[in-house]
Amino acid sequence: MDKAANGFKVSAKGQHFKRRVLGYFATVGRATIPDISKNLTISVPKVTALVGELMAEGLVRDNGKVDSTGGRKPSLYGLVSDSAFFVGVDVKQSHINLGLSDLRNQLVRVAERVPYHLDNTAESLESLCGTIEAFLKESAVSREKILGIGINLSGRINFATGYSYSFFHFDDQPLAETIESRVGIRVFLENDSRAMAYGEYCSGVVGTEKDVLFLNLDYGVGVGILINGKPYYGKSGYAGELGHVPIFDNELLCRCGKKGCLETEASGWALTRMFREKLREGSSSVLSQQFPDPEDVGMDDIIQAARNDDVLAIELIARIGENLGRGIAFLINVFNPELVVLGGSLAVTEDYIRLPVKTALNKYSLSLVNNDTQLKMSTLGEQAGLIGACLLVRNRLLSLM
Ligand SMILES: [Zn+2]
Repeated sequence: MDKAANGFKVSAKGQHFKRRVLGYFATVGRATIPDISKNLTISVPKVTALVGELMAEGLVRDNGKVDSTGGRKPSLYGLVSDSAFFVGVDVKQSHINLGLSDLRNQLVRVAERVPYHLDNTAESLESLCGTIEAFLKESAVSREKILGIGINLSGRINFATGYSYSFFHFDDQPLAETIESRVGIRVFLENDSRAMAYGEYCSGVVGTEKDVLFLNLDYGVGVGILINGKPYYGKSGYAGELGHVPIFDNELLCRCGKKGCLETEASGWALTRMFREKLREGSSSVLSQQFPDPEDVGMDDIIQAARNDDVLAIELIARIGENLGRGIAFLINVFNPELVVLGGSLAVTEDYIRLPVKTALNKYSLSLVNNDTQLKMSTLGEQAGLIGACLLVRNRLLSLM
C-alpha cells in the first residue's frame, strides 16, 4: 500500500491535477467547473472528470446551481470540511501542544500543554508516540480521514528526508518513518521555529508583509524566515539557527559545544542560569521562598514571576531582551525584513521583553534599515506551532505551497 495514500487517493503520488483542484477550492471556497477550468488552465472535460472523482471520494460536494440570468446554470462545488483532517504536533521542552484541523483549515480540536519531557532518549520518543496515539483516539475521527501529521521539533530537521539530527537520531531509519510506522499516518517533520513562523504568517499577526522573521524565544532561540511569503529552508533545512551565532566574547559553553553563542546570553537557558546565580548570591524574589534549592527554578517559573511583577525576574528578562536585540539587529541588517515577530514562551512577558529588544535594535542596527522594520508580538502565542504544523501539512498535500 502507498503509505501516502492512507485511503485517500488525493494524497498519493501522481494525483497532481486532483490536488490542484482541491487546492483551488481551498483558496476560493466554492467554484464552478468553467471557473476552475479557466483559472487552472485545465480543459472542461478533464475538470469535470476530476470533480466527479473528488465527489466519489467524498471530498467535494455539489452546492447547487449558481444564480445567473439566462442560459444553463452551472453547479457550484465546494469542499466537504469534515472529509479530511490534518494533525499538528508541537513538541516543547516540557509539554506538547496538539491540534486537529479540517479541510477548510478550521481547528476542530486542540490539546494544549500535555505534560512531556523532551529528552534525547528512546523513552522520550516512546512517550511522544503515545501522546500522539492518545490524541488520535480522543479525537474520534477515523484514521483514514487524517491525511497527514506535522511534527515540530527544535534543532536540525531535514524536512525532505524525514531525518531529525538534534533529537531521536538513533538508527538509520528516518524519524518520520519510525513514527509513521507506529501511528499508520503519513508524518512530516518540521523545525519548530519555521512551523511557528508559517502559522503566524497564514493566520496570525502577519498582514500583507512577505519578508518576515519570526523569533522563537524559548529555552533556545531559533528564527523562522519567510522570504516573499515562502518559508526559507536553506540546502537541507537547517536555516534559522540564530541561537548558535557566535556574537558574545565569553567563556560560557553552549549546548552545541561551542563558546560565545547568542543562546549563552539571550535565551531561556541563559535566563534560568542567571536567575539561579542571583538567588544563590542572595537576591530576593517571590521564587526564593517557593524554591529552597535555586536549581529547581525553571524558565516557566521565572516567566510567571515576571507576570506577577517580580522585580528580579523583570530585570533579568530585560537583560535577555537587550542581548537578544543584538542578535536581531544582525538579522535586520542582513535581511532588511518588513516585519519581525517575537514569539515563543518568553513572548508572553510582552513589554518586559519587547521594549529592551526595541531599544537594542535602535542601538545596534543601521537606522535606515531598521526604519523599514516593524516589531510585533505573536498573536497566536502557544498555538502558533500547532496551527503552523497543520497548515504546512495541509498546504503541501493540496499543492498550495
Ligand atoms: Zn551554540
